[in-house]
Amino acid sequence: MSPSRHTKVLIVGSGPAGYTAGVYAARAMLQPLLVQGIEPGGQLTTTTEVENWPGDVQVQGPDLMVRMEAHAREMGCEIVSDIITSLDLSRRPFTAQSDSGTVYTADAIILATGARAKWLGLPSEEKFKGFGVSACATCDGFFYRGQEIVVIGGGNTAVEEALFLTNFASKVTLVHRRNELRAERILQDRLFKHPKIETLWFHEVAEVIGAESPLGVEGIRLRNVKTGAITEIPCKGVFVAIGHSPASELVKDQLEMHNGGYVTVKPGSTETTIPGVFAAGDLTDHKYRQAVTSAGMGCMAALDAEHWLAAQGDQPQKDTILPMGYGAPEGVGAK
Ligand code: FAD
Ligand code: NAP
Repeated sequence: MSPSRHTKVLIVGSGPAGYTAGVYAARAMLQPLLVQGIEPGGQLTTTTEVENWPGDVQVQGPDLMVRMEAHAREMGCEIVSDIITSLDLSRRPFTAQSDSGTVYTADAIILATGARAKWLGLPSEEKFKGFGVSACATCDGFFYRGQEIVVIGGGNTAVEEALFLTNFASKVTLVHRRNELRAERILQDRLFKHPKIETLWFHEVAEVIGAESPLGVEGIRLRNVKTGAITEIPCKGVFVAIGHSPASELVKDQLEMHNGGYVTVKPGSTETTIPGVFAAGDLTDHKYRQAVTSAGMGCMAALDAEHWLAAQGDQPQKDTILPMGYGAPEGVGAK
């Protein structure tokens, strides 16, 4: 039989939202259990300098996340290396199946599963993933010392990746489908001044081209979005940085969503459409998507869970079948 663990508050995810929820829920004496998932520390572990975390003029993303984990642990949050594979939110206590085989049950759940990199969806991109095509400059940049690299995208991630890759590459070409970047002005300024970086506007990827044996990228075929003209650029690496999608598969068909998969929360709160289930961070936020806003929402989720549990009399409610709808803090489960 699968081992099972019951907790008052189960936190799913170990990014800034999850760890902050862990700190607050532990300090509320809720003895939270946090499941880290496949990427302990979340998206910031895939970057280098973070320059907008208040209190640190500059901090390495992975270091910041190690500190957040230690902080949550120190406050009394139990942190488990496991992955939640499915969630049943239809009755309380809520049930979470996991990769390790442990079945977690919880009176309240805080979802903080964040977001994942988007891909272009081209067959040639798929073919060369791991063989010259990457979505993580911090992870893979080192392999391209002295080589030419192309970065796709026009947001903060693309610009940061292009700048970071200049540490290794002989030349970086940033390819964007418009002639205007979404990235912050300070990053744009650094990009345009960098002698190793060239920008190519109004182009999209038609195909990644490369050798079969050994499998590896040799270049990229680009289409001018205005004229349709095709150009080829030789390169050894293609870094796709076209944004992120919310990691909401676990709760698809169980919770209301907006903007293509972000979990909907009641305005000004972290309550989802199921009472006792709270959502924080990039999973619910299609607009700001920052470490500090995610951490803020993690705090809100822990406080919302604390108030909600107190209103339930802090009693686990066995086999309560749940309706959909925003749960008022004083609402007692089924309406
Ligand atoms: P995430 O950080 O996405 O973490 C999600 C967590 O959920 C992960 O730990 C994952 O393992 C876990 N998880 C997912 N599915 C499961 C599951 N099934 N079971 C268990 N756990 C699961 N923001 C800034 O403010 N400043 C920056 O400088 C900055 N730089 C960035 C650089 C890059 C390259 C990227 C990609 C993003 C950057 N951001 C930056 C954005 C910032 O990283 C995110 O806004 C923030 O990490 C979101 O936090 P989160 O806790 O919501 O989720
Ligand atoms: P983003 O801001 O959504 O930008 C995605 C970029 O990719 C856009 O320029 C978009 O073009 C382009 N794009 C999308 N789909 C495409 C496609 N199919 N083909 C070609 N181009 C495509 O994503 P992000 O840069 O990953 O940033 C995500 C969030 O994390 C943002 O909120 C960002 O502020 C945050 N973040 C912050 C920092 C920081 O604070 N330093 C660093 C990294 C990320 P269009 O512009 O034409 O739509």
